[in-house]
Amino acid sequence: MTFDQDLKATIRTIPDYPKPGIMFRDITTLLADARAFRRAVDELVHPWAGNKIDKVAGIEARGFILGGAVAHQLSAGFVPIRKKGKLPHTTVRIAYSLEYGLDEMEMHVDAIHPGERVILVDDLIATGGTAEGAVKLLRQIGANVVAACFIVDLPELGGAAKLRAMDVPVRTLMAFEGH
Ligand code: AMP
Repeated sequence: MTFDQDLKATIRTIPDYPKPGIMFRDITTLLADARAFRRAVDELVHPWAGNKIDKVAGIEARGFILGGAVAHQLSAGFVPIRKKGKLPHTTVRIAYSLEYGLDEMEMHVDAIHPGERVILVDDLIATGGTAEGAVKLLRQIGANVVAACFIVDLPELGGAAKLRAMDVPVRTLMAFEGH
């Protein structure tokens, strides 16, 4: 088995969740598999091993689990990007598009210093609306977004292309067809 098939096989697909027509790519089965979890984190950080990364920003909630491990591996700090109303200190906030309507995400205004080199982490990129909002938020407080990393890409939804068009290098470990 190739690396890609091996890791891909640890992801569970739940059809029609959370609504009909969506194939939910459930990474909890990858996280629960010690070898797969380590491999996924090692592969995500591979291009930046030996580079200076100041902070890893993780998107709530699965991006926290992966982002924490990635930050540890790179000896970088970790910064949470959260849904609105959860962070206690002064925040910056941005609205971002979901499939239906808008939501808002926040980070602490002092979480990143201007010019710091930051990697953004989430489990999956679909339309890219969430990650695009996160990149804008990071840039708003002066971060140098060096890359965005995801385990799963849904290329037909165009999210990775959207980030690349914003000059953000994108790293994904596998792709699934469809939604
Ligand atoms: P998007 O903003 O469209 O790129 O959606 C990305 C966010 O929604 C990520 O935080 C994912 O965890 C979640 N997501 C979107 N589609 C799926 C899917 N098919 N399976 C699992 N999670 C998904």
